[in-house]
Amino acid sequence: MQLTEVCDISIPVSFGKRQLSAFGGAPARSEAFLDTRKGGSCNCEIHTFSPHLNGTHTECVGHITKERISVPNVGLVMAQLVTVKPEQGLISTIKAEPTEALIVRTLPNPPAKKTRNYKDWPTFTPDAMKRIVALGVKHLLVDLPSVDRRDDARLTNHRIFWKRGVTITELVYVPSRVKDGKYLLNLQVAAFEADAAPSRPVLYKVKK
Ligand SMILES: [Zn+2]
Repeated sequence: MQLTEVCDISIPVSFGKRQLSAFGGAPARSEAFLDTRKGGSCNCEIHTFSPHLNGTHTECVGHITKERISVPNVGLVMAQLVTVKPEQGLISTIKAEPTEALIVRTLPNPPAKKTRNYKDWPTFTPDAMKRIVALGVKHLLVDLPSVDRRDDARLTNHRIFWKRGVTITELVYVPSRVKDGKYLLNLQVAAFEADAAPSRPVLYKVKK
């Protein structure tokens, strides 16, 4: 079996640079604890950010429970990439085969998504989310700040999808050159004891 890296589909958390914002959260920032440019023995920074607001992140059911549950590492899983065109802000149809991980790329798909100030975004209809659950998806990845609308305080779609062991990854960016289809996904999640953590999903093509 031969693996060819196709694409890193993360939007990194960048500090102090041009960056995306969502839900009106503050930009990610860092301050020097030690700085070699200022005579420090090394560089050591203190970062202030939220996994949910400042870049690609993976979250678990602990996002909505009173009980604190930490996001698992996911690692290697088979994934399917599908592209959808929301109609009037709604994603109502998901054409996919049963799959462990599903990556949903929404149209339009300009690279500006990586630095956008997200005020509103398309969302799944509850039936579309039920369809995703019925496909056996355990790890759902989307290029939106949330699988729910900003004003949905009930987090309807999150609740349809969540159970223990499943994850949702938000704010990925899949370049248009990557074709829909099946990939091996390496979903690397930072080791945080928290409901969400920054993550780096990487797609591989598998050749036998
Ligand atoms: Zn989130």
